[in-house]
Amino acid sequence: MLALVKYGTGPRETELRDVPVPEIGADDLLIEVKAAGICGSDIAYDNGDHPHHLNCPVVLGHEFSGVVSQVGENVKDWKVGDRVVSDNTGYVCGKCHACTTGQYLMCPERLGMGYGMDGGFTDYVKIRGDLLERNPNALFHIPDNVSFEEAAILDPICNAYKAVVQESSILPGEDILVFGIGPLGLFSIQVASLMGCGNIIVAAREGSGQTRIELAKKYGATHVIFTDKQDLVAEVDKITGGDKVPVVIDAAGANAVMRQAISVVRKGGEIIKIGFDKKPYDCSLDDLLDLGITVKGHFGYDYVSWKNILHLLEMGKVDLKSMISHHILLKDWQKGFDLVRKKEAIKIIITKDEEKCSVL
Ligand SMILES: [Zn+2]
Ligand SMILES: [Zn+2]
Repeated sequence: MLALVKYGTGPRETELRDVPVPEIGADDLLIEVKAAGICGSDIAYDNGDHPHHLNCPVVLGHEFSGVVSQVGENVKDWKVGDRVVSDNTGYVCGKCHACTTGQYLMCPERLGMGYGMDGGFTDYVKIRGDLLERNPNALFHIPDNVSFEEAAILDPICNAYKAVVQESSILPGEDILVFGIGPLGLFSIQVASLMGCGNIIVAAREGSGQTRIELAKKYGATHVIFTDKQDLVAEVDKITGGDKVPVVIDAAGANAVMRQAISVVRKGGEIIKIGFDKKPYDCSLDDLLDLGITVKGHFGYDYVSWKNILHLLEMGKVDLKSMISHHILLKDWQKGFDLVRKKEAIKIIITKDEEKCSVL
């Protein structure tokens, strides 16, 4: 089967290869991939500059959904034909502090499918029985009214849900500021709306693209501030009457954003940092102490994020469809990656359905 393989950790060491369909044992499942989402992390893996450890050669693709196509003879909980989505956990130890307390994503030995072990930019993915024995909730049934494509991009909205709902202490009626209008920023805006936030202020660069700016407004942004054109602090003071905001979500990442975040968060407030910047931080952090600001490093999601987002999706209370800007075939992966690089795409779905594809 055709698979997008990252064969080395350096830049552009990524290529399509013919790989064997995984063989499954008595406790394992085989998933036929129906849809997979391209994530900003995939671009960073291709660029060779993502901090995640890559077990090369590895099939990329950590956002995917599909159908159970084969089950081992000991498997009782899943059957052929089940529509499923994986939270991309491929392996956890089951014994460490994190696993024992149910925080499987924090397991030091965790391997994520799509970087630590083979993922979904291909036709079939194996789900190991020892994983499901330790954490049966690493795989979820997709509700009947939810498409494979929507299910394939649950990973980023679950990330946003955890950042806004579970990691910040925002309350309904409070103002929030989101830096960045990539997928994680846009999903954070949606979640902030669901949470009943007051002003949802978005800080972005004017060149972020009209589509993203329109989506930000559609999802509930009350104000969009262009940081390359406007005075961020003055604008936030104007909107909040000088109160500043209790919670900042940094879905952009650059170190400069951390400095800006500190300038608009109120005393005792919180900055939840989602975005990466591998350069060393170049400023004094004394303001954190003077102002009593908490910076929380965000990572991933957990069972609660997945369960609640799936429920909201089933009830039609979150919108994933309008986040999908393009469909492509796997063979056109490079065009897809380039569209993400140029910020022309929001979420791209890799599909087998040729008729849907807008990039050929
Ligand atoms: Zn991702
Ligand atoms: Zn563990």
